[in-house]
Amino acid sequence: MQPLIPYLQDDQKAADYLRQVRWPSGVTCPRCGSDAVEPRERCDNGLQRFNCVPCAARLGQQFAMFTDWTSSIFEESKLRPLEWLLVMGLWQLKLNATEIAAAADIQERTAQRCINLLDGGIYETYHLDPTRQLEHQVEADECYQSAGSKGLAREVERCERAPRPRGIQLRGRATAETGRPPLLGLVQRRDKADQDAPAAQVYFEVLENVRTATIKPIIAAKVKGGAQFFTDEYNIYHFTKVDYDHRTVNHGAGEYARRDPDGTCVHCNTMEGIWSGLRNFLDHFKGISQRFLHLRVGRYEFLHNHMHLHWYQTFETALRYIFSTTGDYLRQMTHHHRRMPLTLCYR
Ligand SMILES: [Zn+2]
Repeated sequence: MQPLIPYLQDDQKAADYLRQVRWPSGVTCPRCGSDAVEPRERCDNGLQRFNCVPCAARLGQQFAMFTDWTSSIFEESKLRPLEWLLVMGLWQLKLNATEIAAAADIQERTAQRCINLLDGGIYETYHLDPTRQLEHQVEADECYQSAGSKGLAREVERCERAPRPRGIQLRGRATAETGRPPLLGLVQRRDKADQDAPAAQVYFEVLENVRTATIKPIIAAKVKGGAQFFTDEYNIYHFTKVDYDHRTVNHGAGEYARRDPDGTCVHCNTMEGIWSGLRNFLDHFKGISQRFLHLRVGRYEFLHNHMHLHWYQTFETALRYIFSTTGDYLRQMTHHHRRMPLTLCYR
């Protein structure tokens, strides 16, 4: 019988698979980029070692070794290649650390670290990708996510009070400071006339507050000029009529969808549906920390935008992004022991 997942058999096969994804057109040295590399003996965990000939010559050494994982986010990991493949598959199923730990038979702390690495890698390479833009028909909306100071002891101390109970409804427009960071959601509607069109493409940003000054640079960067832009009547979006064909639906007056004389359907229902999906996903993390909220949201964004693909295509796409990360974002985030500025990329 043909095994369903041939590379999920041992660490060597897992390492071979991961290497193909990392270097589809042949292994190159992570230090100098040369392809004049020679395979050496494997490591105990199945990873292949290589010697870079030019690097060895330059350094005046006999060898200049690297492995399949040198300069990748997996480099310092104690998990074996096979375990990583398993964790990746579970990560893609939108599971939390507890569930991944149980399913992959690893420690919960390890699973937590794994999902931070994977979510962080996707955040850095996919979410922050400046070339990704939405066009044609784009809906925008905000929602509020409860996020406390879980996993952020210092922040709690600084506030000199007990951590805020999560899930409390606060009056008025919430901000990150009140424990309910707003999320901005932008979605390009799927082209229903095109059978092969990808899924509706979303872009989420966790915000400090919902003000025009906060959201304007994000919309300008992420939505192509000239697009049709659908929102509710909330006045923070008024500025968009300069660059977009801005149409509003009046939720206050009980209007949820209408067809304009030119045939355009004016509504935010695509975004509404995506919010409920995102909420279900985030609820799964039971009291999510503000510090990691944007990473979890980034995973949902990535998985949603690739859901028209086969699971293994999504798996490989995620891996390619993760292998292209420098890890700088995560290192900064962990070393600062605080939340990164959320709109970092627009400054
Ligand atoms: Zn080299």
